Amino acid sequence: MGYVALYRKFRPPVFEDVKGQDHIVTTLKNQIKSDRVGHAYLFCGTRGTGKTSVAKILARAVNCEHPVDGSPCGECDMCKEIAAGNSMNVIEIDAASNNGVDNVREIIDEVSYSPTKGKKKVYIIDEVHMLSTGAFNALLKTLEEPPSYVMFILATTEVQKLPITILSRCQRYDFHRITIDTIEARLREVVDAEGIKVEERALRYVAKTADGSMRDSLSLLDQCIAFNYGEELTYDKVLNVLGAVDTEVFSRLFSALYTQDVNGALTLLADIVIQGRELSQFVNDFVWYLRNLMLVQASDQMEDVIDISSDNLAALKEQANSADIDTILRYIRVFSELSSQIRYASQKRILIEITLIKLCKPQMDDGEGAFEDRIRILEQHDEDNGKLLKGIQNGQVAVSLSGAGPVSGQQMGTPKAKKVLDRAVPEDIKKVVSNWPGLLMRMDNPMKTYLQKAKLSLGNDDTLQIVFDNKQLAEKYSKGESQQELQDFLDDATGKHIVFETRFLEAQQVFEENYVNLQAINFDIVTEDSETE
Ligand SMILES: [Zn+2]
Repeated sequence: MGYVALYRKFRPPVFEDVKGQDHIVTTLKNQIKSDRVGHAYLFCGTRGTGKTSVAKILARAVNCEHPVDGSPCGECDMCKEIAAGNSMNVIEIDAASNNGVDNVREIIDEVSYSPTKGKKKVYIIDEVHMLSTGAFNALLKTLEEPPSYVMFILATTEVQKLPITILSRCQRYDFHRITIDTIEARLREVVDAEGIKVEERALRYVAKTADGSMRDSLSLLDQCIAFNYGEELTYDKVLNVLGAVDTEVFSRLFSALYTQDVNGALTLLADIVIQGRELSQFVNDFVWYLRNLMLVQASDQMEDVIDISSDNLAALKEQANSADIDTILRYIRVFSELSSQIRYASQKRILIEITLIKLCKPQMDDGEGAFEDRIRILEQHDEDNGKLLKGIQNGQVAVSLSGAGPVSGQQMGTPKAKKVLDRAVPEDIKKVVSNWPGLLMRMDNPMKTYLQKAKLSLGNDDTLQIVFDNKQLAEKYSKGESQQELQDFLDDATGKHIVFETRFLEAQQVFEENYVNLQAINFDIVTEDSETE
C-alpha cells in the first residue's frame, strides 16, 4: 500500500471523532437518532475545518442499517461499501472542476433513479460556490423538491458567493476555526498512533501555524515528518521545514521600529523576502511576537501562555521591559490590520514596507495612536523639550507639531511606489519549482485548486512553463486578470519577475515526452556563464 497522507488516514470515521465542531455534530446526531434528516445541507467555513469529513460521516449515517448514537456503525454492509468507495449511494462532486450546466444536468438526470441498495443517495458538492450561474439555476428545482431518497450536502469556503435562492433552500451549518489547543491535542493523538516522537513545542507550533484548519495542521505535520524521517521532530526542525522565522529576527525588527531605524527595518524585510519566507505568515508571527511582549510586560507568570524557549523568554523580557506598553499595543493594532489586508493582496511586500515606514515615521500617519507615538519619540529625542511636550499633551501646540513633517522620500529612504523587480534567472525558476508545493499551499482558491494539477517545465529564455491538462485553464492563466493574479503571486513570493507561459497538454500527449519535467529531476540548470568556464 502506498503512502497515505495523515489527514486522509486520520479522517474521523464517526461524529464523536470530529474535533471542534460540537455544535454541528450534536444537531446532526440528533437528527439521525430522531430520523428527521433534511434533504439539503449547506456546510460553510474556512478550509480544513471538517466540512467534508462531516459530510462523509452524515452520508454514511443516513445509509447505515443500525447507526450507533447517530453515527454510522462501521459494521453493516452499507457502511463498509461506502467506506470502501464502492457504493453508488454517495456521489462526491468537486464543483471547482465540474462547474457547468451540463455537469449539473447529469446529476439531475441521475437523481431520478432510486438507490438499489441502502436508503439515500447523497450528493456531496464541494466548493459549491464555483458553480456557474447557469449551473445554480439548473440545480435549484431539484434542490427544492428532491425525491425522498435524495439528499444534498453542499460545502463551501465562500458562502457569500452563493445565490440567496440556494441559501434559502438549505439547512446551513457554520464550521468554526478550530482552536490551537484542540488541534494540538489531535496532533498528539496522531503522532502517538504513528509512533513518532515529537517535541511538544514542535506540535504546538504546527497547530498554531495551521490557523484553525485541522487539515492544514496534518499536512504541515506530514511535511515535517517527511523531511525528518525516522528522527525525533524538534521545534527547530519544524521551524526549518515550515520556513518560519526565528524569534531573534522579530526582536531585531521590533528594535528597529522602536528606534525609528527605517533602513534597519527595510533591510530586515528584504532579507526575509530573499529567504523566500511567506510574508503573510511573517506578519502573523510578528503579531504573535508583539502579543508575547505585551503579556510578558503585563505579568511575570506568563511562561505557560507563551510557548517559547527559556532563552527566548529571557530575551523577550528584556525587550519588553525597555518598551512602553502603548507603543506595543499600537504596533499590535497596526500589524493585525495589516495581517488581514495582506492575505488577499498581490503586493504583500509593498504593504509591509508602507507599514514599517509609517511606524518609523509616525508624523506620516494620522491613525489612532500615532500622536502618542510622536510624543514618545519627541521625549526620546529631546528631553529638554519638556515644556513644549506638556503643551502638546494639553493640545495647545498640536498645530506646530503637525508642521514638523513632511519628510521627503529621500530622507526616509523609502522605496519607489511600485518596485520594478529583476527578471528571474534560472536559479529563481528553480526556486519556484522546488518550492512549488509550498507555493500552492499559500495560494488562495480558486487559483490553488486550478494549479494543483499543473506541471512545471522550462521554456525558452528562462521562462517558466505551466502545463495544464485542461485547455480552459491554460487559456485562463494566459491573459487578463487571472494571468495578472498568478504573476503577482509568483513575483511576490520570489521577489523576482517570473516570466511564465501556460501550455495545454492534449489528452493523448504524455507530459514527459513533450516537456522538461522540472519537478521530477531535481535539476541543476546550467547557465550560459558557467558553461563558458
Ligand atoms: Zn452501518
